[in-house]
Amino acid sequence: MEKILVSACLMGRKVRYDGRAKTSSDTRLAAWREEGRLVVFCPEVAGGLPTPRPAAEIEGGAGGAAVLAGAARVLATDGSDVTAEFVAGARAALAFAQSAGVRLAVLKEGSPSCGSLTVYDGTFGGGRVPGRGATTALLEQHGIRVFAEDRIDEAAAYLRSLEA
Ligand code: SF4
Repeated sequence: MEKILVSACLMGRKVRYDGRAKTSSDTRLAAWREEGRLVVFCPEVAGGLPTPRPAAEIEGGAGGAAVLAGAARVLATDGSDVTAEFVAGARAALAFAQSAGVRLAVLKEGSPSCGSLTVYDGTFGGGRVPGRGATTALLEQHGIRVFAEDRIDEAAAYLRSLEA
């Protein structure tokens, strides 16, 4: 049975920067949980960041690949540089996913770790730009497909193709 990596905040865990969850009500996620498919993970907590924590964005909205390559930093609203924690969290997520044999993930959109379609633009003004978070970029560099939580139709179709 294919396992699916899922952002912990989508599954009700209070691990977001603001100390809250972002619980998904999607029935397919619930069904996959019942089937025992889900492996739940929060890269930022795994990378050593506390909860709650200051919000963070990738400078210049550069995207996760630039963070992994050392070409962009992740900065928090208090001015601290949390790049190392984000990279450590991405590596921990990859190791966790690989140890579980994961080939697909459903991750929280917009996050500088988990985003797969957009990330915030680095100004803390609420604007977004196309791009991926650091964890998503690393997972996809290693062949793990990442889907946003509002693209579960696509994730389900990919799951069917893997199990066909
Ligand atoms: Fe959710 Fe990912 Fe942010 Fe953790 S790093 S709180 S799993 S979006």
